[in-house]
Amino acid sequence: MALCLLAGSAQGAVVTPNDLGQQLLEADSIKTSRHDEFLRLLYQLDNQASKLTSKQQWHLRYLHAWQVVFNGQYPEASALLNDIIERSDDTTLRFRANATIINVLGVTHRYEDAFRHLNQLVDDLPQITDKAARYQGLGEAAQLLIFAEQYDQAIGYADEMLQDLPAGENVCKAMYFKLHAEFRGGMPQSGDPPFQEGINACLAGKEPLFADSLRTDIATLEIARNRPAQAIAILKDHYQDVLGYNYSALTMQFNALLAKAYWRAGNIEETEKYANAVIAGAIPNEYTEPLSAAYSLLYQIEAKRGNSHAALDYHEKYMAADKGYLNDVTARTLAYQIVNQQLKARKLEVEALNKRNQILQLQRALDHKAVEASRLYILLLITILASIALLLYRIKRSQLRFMRLARQDGLTGIFNRQHFVEEATNVLRHSERSHRPACLILIDLDHFKQINDTHGHAVGDQVLQNAVTACRQNLRQGDVFGRLGGEEFGILLPDCVAATAFDRAEHLRKAIAATPVDAAHSHVAISASFGVSSTERAGHDLQRLLVDADHALYRAKHSGRNRVESVNAGDSIMPSAPVDASKRKADPDMSNASSLAEPAS
Ligand code: GH3
Ligand code: MG
Ligand code: MG
Repeated sequence: MALCLLAGSAQGAVVTPNDLGQQLLEADSIKTSRHDEFLRLLYQLDNQASKLTSKQQWHLRYLHAWQVVFNGQYPEASALLNDIIERSDDTTLRFRANATIINVLGVTHRYEDAFRHLNQLVDDLPQITDKAARYQGLGEAAQLLIFAEQYDQAIGYADEMLQDLPAGENVCKAMYFKLHAEFRGGMPQSGDPPFQEGINACLAGKEPLFADSLRTDIATLEIARNRPAQAIAILKDHYQDVLGYNYSALTMQFNALLAKAYWRAGNIEETEKYANAVIAGAIPNEYTEPLSAAYSLLYQIEAKRGNSHAALDYHEKYMAADKGYLNDVTARTLAYQIVNQQLKARKLEVEALNKRNQILQLQRALDHKAVEASRLYILLLITILASIALLLYRIKRSQLRFMRLARQDGLTGIFNRQHFVEEATNVLRHSERSHRPACLILIDLDHFKQINDTHGHAVGDQVLQNAVTACRQNLRQGDVFGRLGGEEFGILLPDCVAATAFDRAEHLRKAIAATPVDAAHSHVAISASFGVSSTERAGHDLQRLLVDADHALYRAKHSGRNRVESVNAGDSIMPSAPVDASKRKADPDMSNASSLAEPAS
């Protein structure tokens, strides 16, 4: 997704009267091609910032924000870019900041916000005359739409890029988006897409990374056509170059494709080598298609070798990665739908208002001259208004459905992890403002893996659903209940002190233990362990509440399971500073909160 960051650098032909202005444009144009030089120029410009005009200062801020994105400091980058979008007078710069923030929002999985910014970008596009800025914006639009599987629209923007190349650009990036969208939109039945033409353009334009990205499409096609040797040849020829970019998304793609191709070619050793390389390069908690493919291959290898334990282990990881990846794809497409429906609804509302005004005006005119034709016209308008209202109602209804889907956990219907975090954070903010306490309960089903292994996944799913039902029956209005991961749940209790939370967790524990599941021949007994934390100790910070509750849960697991443990105000089982994540990761039992304790992006 970050690929487009490399695109667009408004190095347009604007000539500024002073040296500093030239330096700014120079820095802007070499951001990626000569990054070290860019940093040096940025430093120089900083030292002379007081001599810059206001417009130039905003430009400098944009370059800083860009550098922060480049470093992967996304929350900081968002703040800087939003500042430019909100406060700068420079329409073109605001447009560029908007394009860059779309990239950041995509990378950090904030798809609804990304599409909202994309709508703004598309609205602003007609006013933007700077060709390089337009090109950058169109590239971001194409990229995000490919991400949301809206290939036709993406191709449309890529075509616009092709028709309006800024000075100093060649057709590489435009062709890349177009070819990539066409390929993703539907495998060619016969004939080869003009990939080579795109690659040549990218090589001529000194954009080898884009050329290598196109090569992943060629390799995918070769594998699909059962020509693994060709795929391997292409990937191997450019493997070292790809490693040199230090761009992990592309490296992972190359490794995963090599693993797939070697698997097709029957070379198990090499399959294993490249699948393991994918896993080694994966970002923790990020689920991607290459990762899911790598685990799937390793699973198949171990199954073939008859190592049932290792095979099961990889299968589990494959399932988790695949689910995570598919959830992300769903989130992207749903976000696109949600934002688009909102936009459509807004347009219809405006239209309805216009029609209503027209009717009123005509009615007023009718008071003076009652013409039959006008009456008919009013009737017609009223009919149109009614159908707009109906359409609006339908859109609103499906919008609500999409919103619900995006927030729900597919299996249990309760909040998914992301939405739980959002809601719990909101509730805590309110509690803090009104100086009220709140508590968090973490729940982890006991020996759940064993239930799956003994009775099968379907029974496991039923156990999850039963446990959720048991909890739901004991919730109060205002409680926030969500599935945080496989068999882990969280409940945030507003207006609640530690002692009450403990009692309520006891209640839930008994309720879960009292709802066994009927499997084919037996009753499956279920139980869960609970960790309780409170704002009295942790403050109104979700991360700290999670870490505290996770510690209590750990204690519950280690003192026999099927029990509740809490961390209270006086306890000192953990230091007051956040726990070192690297230490926590070593103990899988303690991994609940650490996986949530990343910045809520
Ligand atoms: P402990 O008592 O220490 O918590 O042990 P455990 O077996 O419950 O914990 P562990 O983390 O080892 O296993 C969790 C299992 O949950 C592994 C995974 O296969 C399973 N799981 C995760 N998501 C789902 C799901 O959606 N459905 C089913 N059936 N199983 C799932
Ligand atoms: Mg667990
Ligand atoms: Mg468990």
